[in-house]
Amino acid sequence: MNFIKPKIVVSKCLEFDACRYDGQLITNKYIKMLKEFIDFIPVCPEVEIGLGTPRDTIKVVNNKDGKILFQPSTNTDLTKKMKTFSDAFLSQLENVEGFILKSKSPSCGLKSAKMYVSKNNSPSMGAGDGLFAEQVRNRFPDFPSEDEKRLNNVFIREHFYTTIFTIADFRGVDTMKKMYEYHSRHKYLFMSYNQALTIKMGRIAANSSGDKFEKVRAEYFQELLIMFKKRARYTSNINMLMHVMGYFKSDVTSNEKEHFLSLLETYRQKKIPLSALTSVLFSWATRFNNRYLLNQSLFSSFPMELMGQAKSRFL
Ligand code: SF4
Repeated sequence: MNFIKPKIVVSKCLEFDACRYDGQLITNKYIKMLKEFIDFIPVCPEVEIGLGTPRDTIKVVNNKDGKILFQPSTNTDLTKKMKTFSDAFLSQLENVEGFILKSKSPSCGLKSAKMYVSKNNSPSMGAGDGLFAEQVRNRFPDFPSEDEKRLNNVFIREHFYTTIFTIADFRGVDTMKKMYEYHSRHKYLFMSYNQALTIKMGRIAANSSGDKFEKVRAEYFQELLIMFKKRARYTSNINMLMHVMGYFKSDVTSNEKEHFLSLLETYRQKKIPLSALTSVLFSWATRFNNRYLLNQSLFSSFPMELMGQAKSRFL
């Protein structure tokens, strides 16, 4: 399967530049490996607003007067500069599929930046979005955005990879025919996420009311983003597996069916990975040369080389 490279905005200090406040670069093995498969757009908002490297620390002050980005050593409020930069940077992005941002940063942290109640010495009170991250969420509310630390979780990582490569694949949809093919190719992957939404998107792609292509495309894309806002659930996966198994009900032997159903039960009990079942289905699709199923992204939703990093779809 050929994969379109997703365009991902990434905090520059993650594997790209030693631009942290202390002059350090953060190594991240996942981002390192992803470089081959992704068009990264590295950005360091703090350097972009003119703070040097190394630089004095800054913090988010969040209280009844609002939320500001503040540098205590120079007594400088950096909020306006950061908002102006973020707005300009984010508004010129085209065809971006997602974001990977540095954890805990007062600028880039997604829900993880420490919040302080006052400019002076005060303990932090919980965590929230850094100022740049907040603008990312405002402008791209339904797009995949991940905190680099969360990528250590295999389930989150695999979901993120599936999401960005499937969304990137939509870039090539420029006709109704291609939208129909896209929906068809991802149908069982979508079903593993949300069956009701899969049906709704199928109706949009069918365009029975004859709306203009651009309108239909925008509507479909919005639902696509919503589809991936939550990870696939066990119940949806089981439902999807039963559907796919239905293709072979008169081809495989009763022993094979029994074996599959017993695997399904074991999967239901969360004792084996999903891959134990998808690999059986894939081998049947190969054996009976079911081209439609062999073409399904369900069996490979992102490059195989990244599989070693993300086995959970299969966990
Ligand atoms: S976390 Fe963001 S602002 Fe801080 S160094 Fe990294 S890229 Fe720059």
